[in-house]
Amino acid sequence: MSHVFVLSSDGQPLDPCHPPRARQLLRSGRAAVWRRYPFTIRLKNRTAAESVTHPHRLKLDPGSKTTGIAVVGEESGRVVWAGELTHRGQAIRDALLSRRSIRSSRRQRKTRYRKPRFLNRRRPEGWLAPSLQHRVETTLTWVNRLRRFVPITAISTELVRFDTQLLENAEISGAEYQQGTLAGYEVREYLLEKWGRRCAYCGAKDTLFQVEHIVPRVRGGSDRISNLTLACEPCNQKKGTQTAEEFGHPAIQAQARQPLKDAAAVNTTRWALYQQLIATGLPVEVGTGGRTKFNRTCLGLEKAHWTDAACVGASTPDHLDTQGVRPLLLRAIGRGTRQVCRTNASGFPTRHKPRARRFQGWQTGDLVRAVIPTGKYVGRYVGRIAIRFRPSFGLDGRFDVHPKYLTRLQRADGYHYAVPGASPAC
Ligand SMILES: [Zn+2]
Repeated sequence: MSHVFVLSSDGQPLDPCHPPRARQLLRSGRAAVWRRYPFTIRLKNRTAAESVTHPHRLKLDPGSKTTGIAVVGEESGRVVWAGELTHRGQAIRDALLSRRSIRSSRRQRKTRYRKPRFLNRRRPEGWLAPSLQHRVETTLTWVNRLRRFVPITAISTELVRFDTQLLENAEISGAEYQQGTLAGYEVREYLLEKWGRRCAYCGAKDTLFQVEHIVPRVRGGSDRISNLTLACEPCNQKKGTQTAEEFGHPAIQAQARQPLKDAAAVNTTRWALYQQLIATGLPVEVGTGGRTKFNRTCLGLEKAHWTDAACVGASTPDHLDTQGVRPLLLRAIGRGTRQVCRTNASGFPTRHKPRARRFQGWQTGDLVRAVIPTGKYVGRYVGRIAIRFRPSFGLDGRFDVHPKYLTRLQRADGYHYAVPGASPAC
């Protein structure tokens, strides 16, 4: 089970505790629930000055769709909390495209329209597309949030896929491309990136690749990275002791000699995130994708975003305690739309955005507990509300409920939360 975050009575982060301990504290009235997701309690009678905390490391595996997050105790090697943050880059892209098409379609009709504007603005240094900027910002939101709940003293993040310096080192780029060594994992990540994750000869994707010598070793080919490529097993077998040229692929030899540029290995989003993490003032360790995979394989963990995050970097302990950890699934859902005039499918204005976003203090997306005493839907429910500007809210799209039956558990904050295999507690 993931641990429970604990705050002192003056709101400072203390060491996370086991769920049974948290239940004990809550039952005896020594603590109160501070937040549902991630579950955080606040002690009533102990300040930070009276407590001892241990260093924790926040580990990130930034991905394009999902970012893995893990909080690991530096001394214990225990994964105290894990999360998987799903970004909404595609949704943002779709929203911008839809806005663009609505505006441009108005220009084709006899309607008032917004003049097309382009090439009249300069992008600031380090500008990222909105969908990419969003990835950086949501990740940073969670870094900052977790820092408020856990005493985090260091950050690890995966920055590049492979270590270019390690590969350039002639000693290592020798025979060590085999599976099972760190250099071997770095070499494989490099080759996967360079050859576009497909077989260099037949272009097959999604198969098991073998590291293949372009000029075979028996013909005097070296083990250097510039003589290696990826091939599927049938191609590797068929090629046998021929060189790539003899096998009918002369271009591959030329392509292999071109070094992969560093820029191809570091993607801009990860780099922007790295800069922001440095700005937090905490020591930031960077790891490679090759090392992450190597660590995960050595520790015998299954592949998941959060296990990858826990394995990032050279600081990963030899014994990582992941027993019973269930990641909290965090999905960025945005905070509603700013579109003032909503249109129908053909782009005709049909309704106007309501001026207020709250009704009697309630907001769409608030997590609530509903206790309905009578009627067709009698019972207890936990869910999210969609407000209307009258005292009848939708509950999870199932039925309508009067706010007098609701207790708010957590305010809408732009994220949807779920724990795999757990039902929401009433
Ligand atoms: Zn092939």
